[in-house]
Amino acid sequence: MSALTRRLLLERLGAAGGLGAAMLGLRAMGVAWGAAPSPLPALPAGHGVGRKVIVLGAGLAGMVAALELRKAGYAVTVLEATDRAGGRCRTLRTGDVVTETSGATQRVALSPGLYFNPGPARIPHFHASLLRYCREFGVPLEPFINENRAALVQDDAAFAGAPRTLREVQANLRGVVAEIAAKGLARGAMDGAVTVEELERLRDLLRRFGALDRDLAWRGDLRAGAAVWPGAGDAAPEAPPPLDLHQLLRADFWAYNTQHAEEIDQAATMLQVSGGVDRIAAAFAERLREVIVTGAEVTRLRRTETGARVAWRDRTTDTARAEDAHAVVVTLPGPILAELDADISAAKRDALRELLYMPAGKLAFEAPRFWEEQGIYGGISWTSRDSTQVWYPSSGFHASRGVLLGAYIWDEAPGRRFAARDPAGREAAVRADLAVLHPGVDPLLQSAVSVAWGEMPFQKGAWGEYTAAQRGTIYRAIHRAEPPYVFAGEHCSWLPGWMEGAVLSAHAAVAAIATNR
Ligand SMILES: Cc1cc2nc3c(=O)[nH]c(=O)nc-3n(C[C@H](O)[C@H](O)[C@H](O)COP(=O)(O)OP(=O)(O)OC[C@H]3O[C@@H](n4cnc5c(N)ncnc54)[C@H](O)[C@@H]3O)c2cc1C
Repeated sequence: MSALTRRLLLERLGAAGGLGAAMLGLRAMGVAWGAAPSPLPALPAGHGVGRKVIVLGAGLAGMVAALELRKAGYAVTVLEATDRAGGRCRTLRTGDVVTETSGATQRVALSPGLYFNPGPARIPHFHASLLRYCREFGVPLEPFINENRAALVQDDAAFAGAPRTLREVQANLRGVVAEIAAKGLARGAMDGAVTVEELERLRDLLRRFGALDRDLAWRGDLRAGAAVWPGAGDAAPEAPPPLDLHQLLRADFWAYNTQHAEEIDQAATMLQVSGGVDRIAAAFAERLREVIVTGAEVTRLRRTETGARVAWRDRTTDTARAEDAHAVVVTLPGPILAELDADISAAKRDALRELLYMPAGKLAFEAPRFWEEQGIYGGISWTSRDSTQVWYPSSGFHASRGVLLGAYIWDEAPGRRFAARDPAGREAAVRADLAVLHPGVDPLLQSAVSVAWGEMPFQKGAWGEYTAAQRGTIYRAIHRAEPPYVFAGEHCSWLPGWMEGAVLSAHAAVAAIATNR
């Protein structure tokens, strides 16, 4: 295709179908890059007319499915057990109440304008299907700072437990690795494998990669921070000396902290929703106002001759209700579906019982922005203690106060310890961990609020955590349709623990309904 024809075609696509159509054209020509949004289920308008679908759960998966099914003419009802749509896509603001299965209750007391996302918070740039809805609905986005070299890393096993800056640790690890590689080159490790000129280029690569000196040795550099910061006049900067290698090797820094933002789903650019992630849920809920029934706890599923009967309890009036449908989209979290009175296969139930739903949790404080006084603007500090991660707000810099995420815990053992404590116990534990990262700030931390997802009614966990082996064993049983039931939710995707996974699973469920029609 000539450049001129291509240009004309793109102009027309853009004029007729907007940016989305123009981008599809570019992709078809092989000149667009990055992840494409999953194609929306291509159901002809009117395809679902005369057909009824009940969607179980008004999280993102349920609401995406409902929205797309309605576009194709299906009559849809969404049954949601809690009193709000959104599921895990939730934001807490002052006056909100968090009640756990045990009955433990917290009332959020953040200052007006401040908020806390206890579940999803960040969006990778390639989560194109979720981002397409954000664009379409006008959900405002802003950068999420996922890595900040001025933030801290701390390991009880090294440097007497004192925190170091990520910058210092990152620079030292790179310096050490580059020096070792340079020594290998000097001993002939690449002789014969590359030409003499290439060998010189490799040395140049290592020098720049590790900030090595002329002798290809790591002797410290300003990348690691400054012993003396640059000033005016004679105030020349001074690089800090290299960190003690033995101490560096005691810590687990390279296992998590220093390569976190190298992972594709943690790499810049990360995004967040301005004002709270629940704006995404609210945008869907607004468009589904007439079809979402809140306070509707699904209690039983049974096949009928024409589809299925869904029994549910109206939690407001405590009355039993039932409704028939041709198909049912089940988006209930794994641990909930595993124990539901439903005629699903034994294989699916067993698989759901085997899947670990991670007992992750978060705890937030309101505080004056002391971290910005330390040059920390956004980003994450890490500790080897249970609190795992501390997040600094990515926006609102220099405001008087902010929400500090004092702990984001996602590993199973610390997650269970966190969940086993009551809210006051969690707060005390997180305060103790924070005192190691930021000594002396304890009196500044106020209005703690925590969510331990394993303790949340109608959730019982944060996300489905598959082992690599389970992808080959239980995964198929979990996501496979069993007509008239089709299954969606983040655990039915290869992106569990991500909103994008919920969206993609819903698209797949809608396509399955169309196929099984
Ligand atoms: C701590 C944490 C951090 C996360 N971080 C991120 C992040 O940074 N970025 C990101 O993209 N994603 C993140 N996620 C993942 C994201 O929140 C989920 O993937 C997504 O919100 C799941 O949507 P869903 O529709 O599959 O499930 P849900 O949102 O759980 O929806 C299921 C719905 O079913 C309802 N329900 C349950 N039982 C019944 C019943 N018996 N009857 C009727 N309704 C019922 C529930 O109340 C709920 O509303 C995080 C999640 C957690 C918990």
